[in-house]
Amino acid sequence: MSEPTPTPESVSADAVRSGNRRALARAITLIESSRHEHRREAETLLADLMPHTSGAIRLGISGVPGVGKSTFIEALGLEAVRAGRKVAVLAVDPSSPLTGGSILGDKTRMERLARDENAFVRPSPSKGALGGVARRTRETLLVCEAAGFDLAVIETVGVGQSETAVADMVDIFLLLLAPGGGDELQGIKKGIVEMADLLVVNKADGDLKPAAERARRDYASALHMLSPLSKAGKARVMTCSALEEKGIDQVWQTVVALYEARRDDGTLAVRRAEQARAWMWAEVSDTVMERVRAHPALKDRLATLEKEVAEGRIAPAEGARRILDAIEGRTG
Ligand code: GDP
Repeated sequence: MSEPTPTPESVSADAVRSGNRRALARAITLIESSRHEHRREAETLLADLMPHTSGAIRLGISGVPGVGKSTFIEALGLEAVRAGRKVAVLAVDPSSPLTGGSILGDKTRMERLARDENAFVRPSPSKGALGGVARRTRETLLVCEAAGFDLAVIETVGVGQSETAVADMVDIFLLLLAPGGGDELQGIKKGIVEMADLLVVNKADGDLKPAAERARRDYASALHMLSPLSKAGKARVMTCSALEEKGIDQVWQTVVALYEARRDDGTLAVRRAEQARAWMWAEVSDTVMERVRAHPALKDRLATLEKEVAEGRIAPAEGARRILDAIEGRTG
């Protein structure tokens, strides 16, 4: 649903927890605001909501443009709703460096799911650097959990570094693939395949069905050869048709089974603890960088320093030392 984005009004943690849609939308607007006073308010709100988070299955989904992510997430989301879940869909969309536009697209996506009262589809905050987008998505995820959503799907595109950012905030990472070209792994970087817990070959319908089945076998053996002992070697490979909604129930059951197994054997808690620790350090480095760039002592000097480093007149390490010295009040 694309209502105009209002200036964030204050919103209470209780209102968010009651499941009130407007309160949820307001909380997210607050989180996405870059204004200083909003940030403080957002932090207070998050602190109040924190004890009520962590209830959801956090599922990351990636795949190249056109593979069927929107179609698949809508089908999977509706399946989860039928199973009694409340579903939130968020996106980490690295804006295209060439066009400055969003890769996932601003079109109204997943309309059927978005209309469902047990689902919430958030258009992606595509502006800003990946770090900033990932940071806001993590916080939005927590707010959605506090609002009672128990499946959070975080979508991203299979290009660039956004998969790592998403894999670092979810419990299960699913890679959606197209039929055909299984042995060449379709130009998807090996590292991304290795991050995946679940590989799903989509479009297993009509003429593409045999190719999808072949791709599934190819991926399964490629994965095994790639790294027989690693996580990737153990990843499940399945097929489905998002368009015809076939095989989606098996994917959903596999996601739930994987989640429950990890919850019960304690690996989920370990993974989330590690993610929380890494998130804290990411916050530190993001904030430090923001403060460095905005530091009054560097106000007029950064552009000159960058130019001198770019032209090779100063070594990068020397430039860095001058920046840090200026902040610490040393001259040099
Ligand atoms: P995204 O860019 O990854 O989000 O992909 P979309 O969900 O927008 O789908 C891209 C195209 O693939 C659309 O024309 C879909 O109708 C089509 N598509 C998606 N899933 C399937 C499927 O299971 N089977 C077939 N045959 N086409 C599909």
